[in-house]
Amino acid sequence: MKKHGTILIIDDTASIVGILTLCLNEQYEILSASNGEQGIKLAQQTENLDLILLDIEMPGLNGYQVCERLQADPSTSAIPIIFVTGKLDVKDEEKRLGMGAMDYITKPIHPPIVIARARTQVTLKQQKEKLEKMALHDQLTDLYNRHFLLDAATKKVSEAIRHQYPLSVLMLDIDFFKSINDEYGHSAGDTVLKSVAKLLKKEYRNEDIAARFGGEEFVVLLSHCTQEKAVIKANQLREKIEAMKPIGLKVTVSIGVSELSKDETSFTELLDRADQALYQAKESGRNKVIVYDMGTNKDN
Ligand SMILES: [Mg+2]
Repeated sequence: MKKHGTILIIDDTASIVGILTLCLNEQYEILSASNGEQGIKLAQQTENLDLILLDIEMPGLNGYQVCERLQADPSTSAIPIIFVTGKLDVKDEEKRLGMGAMDYITKPIHPPIVIARARTQVTLKQQKEKLEKMALHDQLTDLYNRHFLLDAATKKVSEAIRHQYPLSVLMLDIDFFKSINDEYGHSAGDTVLKSVAKLLKKEYRNEDIAARFGGEEFVVLLSHCTQEKAVIKANQLREKIEAMKPIGLKVTVSIGVSELSKDETSFTELLDRADQALYQAKESGRNKVIVYDMGTNKDN
């Protein structure tokens, strides 16, 4: 059966871990830790952890302390926490809610309650993630969207200026995209967009950012990359796209390249120059890479 998420149980009593696991392991992957330190480490190491069931009364770090540490760490702060406790008094409840724990379960454990509360928290967390992802990604291609690019690029530009490393940008446009749509229909057009996006995702990882800028236009931001290297990369990319032939169609791209100059402060200027180079690539026959030439263009 497909699991619906991953849950970490932190509890020093093995029998409680056992009962909670039994309640939840049909629907979720279960990880467990018998003390706070171990639990925090596991939470930091686990990707996509959806929920933590956290015992309050433990030797060493207690549940409140573990909760504080998890919430102070950006890598774990978004994981919902349900406290598990034998105590039930109003003061404790105030403390729990004040700490941002989402919910609590009291001992003795009632399986239907555990299952219902866990499901609620896991679902909420996953829905929130989905919304966040949608806000930053292009829905058709799953690449980053323009909104994310502009935000991330602004940070990259100040970082590149501060640490004095080269930063280049590729602006890429699919040639004759309109005629692909007109002749073969929009779903063919969508397939072409997705194929180009897939290649971009494969080619650019880690500190580079590839985004769908709009329509059939894509932008790649290359960190620690000079204009010369960017041109080589752009030509490799252009050749790979030409060789790709999605659904049997010949697809080519034009690419404008530009490097952040010493006196530049904004991403908009950098992008604008790549856009001008792209325009030249289109004007001079398409399926080519053109670099924005500071020398000649300054005179225009
Ligand atoms: Mg305990």
